[in-house]
Amino acid sequence: MGAGIVGTALAAYLGERSGLDITVLERGPGDRLLGSTGHAPGFLGLLNEVPVATELARTSSDAYERLEHRGLAGFDRVGGLEVATSSAEMTRLEIRAELAGTYRLPAQILTASQAAECAPSLVDREACIGGVLYPHDGTARANAITAAYKVRAMQGGATFVHDAAVTAISVNGREVRAVGTVDTQFHADDIVIACGVWGPMIAPLVEVELPLTPVAHPYVYGPDVGGNLAQGPFVRWPEHHVYARAHGPRLGLGTYDHQPRPVPIDELGHTAEQRWPGALFDDAVARAMALLPAVHRFTPEKRLNGVFAMTPDNLPLLGPVGDIGGLWAAEAVWVTHAAGAAHALAQLMTGTAPDIEGLEALAPGRFAGRTDQELTESSLRLYRDIYSST
Ligand SMILES: Cc1cc2nc3c(=O)[nH]c(=O)nc-3n(C[C@H](O)[C@H](O)[C@H](O)COP(=O)(O)OP(=O)(O)OC[C@H]3O[C@@H](n4cnc5c(N)ncnc54)[C@H](O)[C@@H]3O)c2cc1C
Repeated sequence: MGAGIVGTALAAYLGERSGLDITVLERGPGDRLLGSTGHAPGFLGLLNEVPVATELARTSSDAYERLEHRGLAGFDRVGGLEVATSSAEMTRLEIRAELAGTYRLPAQILTASQAAECAPSLVDREACIGGVLYPHDGTARANAITAAYKVRAMQGGATFVHDAAVTAISVNGREVRAVGTVDTQFHADDIVIACGVWGPMIAPLVEVELPLTPVAHPYVYGPDVGGNLAQGPFVRWPEHHVYARAHGPRLGLGTYDHQPRPVPIDELGHTAEQRWPGALFDDAVARAMALLPAVHRFTPEKRLNGVFAMTPDNLPLLGPVGDIGGLWAAEAVWVTHAAGAAHALAQLMTGTAPDIEGLEALAPGRFAGRTDQELTESSLRLYRDIYSST
């Protein structure tokens, strides 16, 4: 269920096995992505203090690098630059760079001038103390990746059914039996919930819990400045909870520096986009914009209030769900981790030993016994620091 980047990649990996009959049911149309995948600006940073997340990101970036769709590469390994504007932050970034070494990830400590030279449209030499460049990070084209996986999945025999919202799941004893849309039943031995922020609407159909919280997040695009801006690394200012990149001739900038804004399930529409909430996001964007060199600050031409899923520990919900045989989840998975997560789940589903260790840290049932309120609060607490883990 769900043909965002996660469900589509999973269908492609399952399609590599013989003897499987794979159907992807997607509520949206076939010609565009209405879920979070269709909105993601595509930052892919490999380093995470949780080893399994780093491995999922590494696997994903390697997979995306090999994909292309209609001449667009899945991944540009342009690097990721973390910038400090205070000496305390620079010390923290240096400690993080040491951690990268333990994961065999290259990290280069840069002076302020080197950091500004690396990303001249984004780093203000005057405000910068220094930075760390992660050359293996980069930017993913989530739309192109999903399209490429769809082609591969169909070549592997998968069928995609669009305009097909799942409204029912049949369980026989403790085994899944079928999924239903308003007018059709599809027999199924295994069912995967890959519905992104809408996962919690599916979970009650089988009386299980998927503790994820949809949150609203601002990202703005600047005007077309004509010609391509220097396509250097994407840049993060972890202490300010801000990140930015060039998209061809435009700059793009996102910020977590605001009161978290959970989106109640009953306010989710059919797209992972919400109305811009005015001052809450305007003020945060204005603060973020002040980090750019004065000549590159811009008036947003497009403002996106996108919705994505947070979990209480910032990790995906990946694996078997509850005690219902054949029910699986691949939820709250970032683009950063999607291919690795899909590949690992395909291995679990087909009884193959996973290549990646530590998947139990992602088990969907790991929060059992905690109240909904606690889980939501934990998820929201992590929102601001999504890019400054460690
Ligand atoms: C503004 C923004 C910025 C982001 N930035 C980044 C970033 O820089 N880096 C990064 O790694 N990630 C980023 N993300 C997060 C990332 O986009 C998501 O985590 C990822 O795309 C989720 O993919 P998915 O396939 O799980 O979900 P989705 O893409 O949401 O797909 C779920 C699909 O399920 C379908 N569906 C829902 N309900 C049903 C149903 N009942 N029946 C059938 N189908 C159903 C939906 O229509 C949808 O197509 C960002 C997200 C947003 C919104």
